[in-house]
Amino acid sequence: MIIIAEKEARGVLLSVDNYMKNVIPATRRASQIEYAIRDVVVPAAKLEAEGHDILKLNIGDPLAYPGLPTPPHMIDAYQKALTDQHNGYSAAYGLPELREAIAYDERNKSNGGWNCKTEDVFICHGVTEALQLIFAAYLKDGDQVLAPGPHYPPYMAYPQLYGGKTVEYRLDPDNGWSIDFDDIESKMNEKVKLLVLINPNNPTGNVATSEDLSRLIDIASKWKNCTIISDEIYDRLNFRGDHFSTASLSSKTPVITLNGVSKVYYAPGWRIGYTVGNKDVIKAMSKLQGQSTSCPNSIAQYAAKEALIGDQKFVSKMRAIFKSRRSLIVNGLNAIDNVTCDSPGGAFYVFPNVEYFIGKENNGFFSTELCGGTHVKNTKEV
Ligand code: PLP
Repeated sequence: MIIIAEKEARGVLLSVDNYMKNVIPATRRASQIEYAIRDVVVPAAKLEAEGHDILKLNIGDPLAYPGLPTPPHMIDAYQKALTDQHNGYSAAYGLPELREAIAYDERNKSNGGWNCKTEDVFICHGVTEALQLIFAAYLKDGDQVLAPGPHYPPYMAYPQLYGGKTVEYRLDPDNGWSIDFDDIESKMNEKVKLLVLINPNNPTGNVATSEDLSRLIDIASKWKNCTIISDEIYDRLNFRGDHFSTASLSSKTPVITLNGVSKVYYAPGWRIGYTVGNKDVIKAMSKLQGQSTSCPNSIAQYAAKEALIGDQKFVSKMRAIFKSRRSLIVNGLNAIDNVTCDSPGGAFYVFPNVEYFIGKENNGFFSTELCGGTHVKNTKEV
């Protein structure tokens, strides 16, 4: 680097191609990671560079769509935190006031909470980072993670980095994408450390009933090594008000709940997520975070506290926007020959059945074909 700086000082600007001539290849660990949702970005960007307008439906970022901004009182809180000079590091566990606001929220969920305490809460850079820390803290070589399929990609990608293996359990397309419990039971064994529930589900939009949750808890309770991960990042984006927190129903199986401000609070770029549950794991996660990113973004934590304790009226207002858009898209999709689509109970995705088209003219990559042909950037098959 010093040599480069000297050469730059003499006016000879080097590019990365000069000083990285002997390229060191990335590890297999890193290069094996795929993220299907983002993979469609490359052909789409090429089309955009050619001057085409691309309708982007590929990513779960509400800010990418009109009419779903981060609420103003949250923006004010962010600005105030800056002005108040909250620009230092926070504790690795997160800001105490935010941890308490999250614990309060967990105790007061609309269909019943659980006795969450401030020390049960750990804050990090989004649920996505929480997953990496959980897998790093939990998994030993050969351990398994049982996760729903169709899947949200990080549950497939990350366990492998820590010596674990993801096994997919089936969601039933003929039954509103509900959980196939027989399939789960057939895949349980002593190696399954983590049983993942995404509720409401991405990508299917299914919301688990309280009976579903009790059954899942019951199955997990028979395996003493097994903890449930309940990813509830879309909890208040459920259209019938029928979402239950898994932890609130479980007296016999440990549950780690994941949530954050990316979806319900329209602030994915703040990168604030949280984990609530087992103190030992939280301690381990906090040590890992302390040595890696030091702490979550301090300013965003102050603003996230405002999201949780401030005015909640916008939550139902925004949910109503999603509900009317849901009708529009579901009706539109069902009006297309050979496409069917269930109406999702929650989250902000639709998961149409396009099986008829797969392998016909598009080598199985329906979304890439859709993007090339019609300039709609959808998710690639998961
Ligand atoms: N969990 C699920 C099920 C998601 O769908 C997403 C985003 O698409 C995330 C987690 C990401 O959350 P975060 O922005 O907090 O990392």
